[in-house]
Amino acid sequence: MKTAVFSPMGGAGHANGAMLASSSAPVPFNTDEMRAEAEEFRGHIARWVDERLIPQAQATDEKGEFSHELFTELGELGYYGAMYPESAGGSGLAYPYTCFTVLCEELARGSLGFAAGVCMQGSTATHTIFQWGGQALHEKYLAPALRGEKIGAFAITEPNSGSDVASLRTKATKVEGGHILNGTKIFTSNGTVADFITVVATTDPSKGLKGLALFVVDTSTPGFSVGRRLDKFSVHSSDTAELVFENVFVPDDHHLDNGGSGGFLNAYKALTVDRIFTAALALGNGRAAYDAALRYAKERSQFGQAIGKFQAVQFKLVDMLALLEQARLYTYHAAALADEGRPITTEAALSKIVAGDGCNEVCQKAMSIFGGYGLMNEYPVQRFLRDSYFPLVGGGTSDIMRLIVARQLGF
Ligand SMILES: Cc1cc2nc3c(=O)[nH]c(=O)nc-3n(C[C@H](O)[C@H](O)[C@H](O)COP(=O)(O)OP(=O)(O)OC[C@H]3O[C@@H](n4cnc5c(N)ncnc54)[C@H](O)[C@@H]3O)c2cc1C
Repeated sequence: MKTAVFSPMGGAGHANGAMLASSSAPVPFNTDEMRAEAEEFRGHIARWVDERLIPQAQATDEKGEFSHELFTELGELGYYGAMYPESAGGSGLAYPYTCFTVLCEELARGSLGFAAGVCMQGSTATHTIFQWGGQALHEKYLAPALRGEKIGAFAITEPNSGSDVASLRTKATKVEGGHILNGTKIFTSNGTVADFITVVATTDPSKGLKGLALFVVDTSTPGFSVGRRLDKFSVHSSDTAELVFENVFVPDDHHLDNGGSGGFLNAYKALTVDRIFTAALALGNGRAAYDAALRYAKERSQFGQAIGKFQAVQFKLVDMLALLEQARLYTYHAAALADEGRPITTEAALSKIVAGDGCNEVCQKAMSIFGGYGLMNEYPVQRFLRDSYFPLVGGGTSDIMRLIVARQLGF
């Protein structure tokens, strides 16, 4: 059954109270109002995750399937608008970054793969258009995307340009009334299912970062094609593609920094806040692994007693809890700063390092508690471990995050 966001549905009920109680702790909200809004929001989305996402998560992972059904349903419920004001078709939340962080965390507790696609839809793919697109783009792409009627993507990475963004080669050539795009993108989330894609291209390769600009490409445009859907070790239920642009015409009003400068700077700002959401993906997935391991430690008996009675297993669980708590503190601290409009360059990168690396370790420890069963596909713990590698790479690798923080230290 569908439940509208913020409809009066009688408290923040959770289908599996014991599971939530075991890994959920109060987050460090800066004000009571922030806590109240975020926790009410969490109650709604947590119920949807328990009732709708978790029952399908294992099967969609095994089939490597992007769930159009669930993706559309979440749009109808209004969740893609969590970051936006009502005037743009959004939810008009007072603490949008904190609430979107909650959304990413809760969804990843069910399926990090599904959550990664949602994160793209409700954040980077739409954020750039909201911030720098004109009214026509808002009506054509943003509003339908927030209702779940159109799917968005964001393409910066290329086969020979990942961390080194300045070296990207997708070329935008100015012509009468617009630009012509030529090039190839890789690892684009939502790439094969997208209706529109924000593409980073260079207007002048000799200018490096300063030559980069942002273009919204309608995927019905002649010359655009999906090269291939990529098979992955991790996040199977997230759609990942290679995209080809052959003489794709993009009109001037689809050029996001039309008439201005700093196209890449615009994209970069959107990517900064995304790091917090990727940290939240790691946290949600880590919670799922911890909850499963805690339950298993109480159920599985060896040598005549539950394996959780062995101190070695208890210590692993305690260390996992400590790693989750660190991830939670860093992630929500960064989100709260974003909501206050304060600088987040360091905090967002730190949250991604702490939550990404920490929750990967949580998943490794969960695997060890499951013994041989951890390696079996019928148990989700192997999925949690595989998926825990995505936050170490998506939106910039952990070492690139370290590089960003080191620069803030003056190096
Ligand atoms: C599942 C998935 C989904 C993705 N979705 C998207 C998407 O929707 N849109 C998009 O544009 N991109 C997307 N990406 C791409 C992602 O952002 C890149 O994979 C990431 O930025 C790293 O780039 P790369 O893979 O080319 O690695 P490389 O840049 O080649 O890095 C390889 C290794 O070298 C290290 N390294 C590189 N440079 C340095 C340096 N200066 N100092 C220290 N170490 C360095 C890296 O840390 C890493 O360990 C996705 C990736 C994955 C796996």
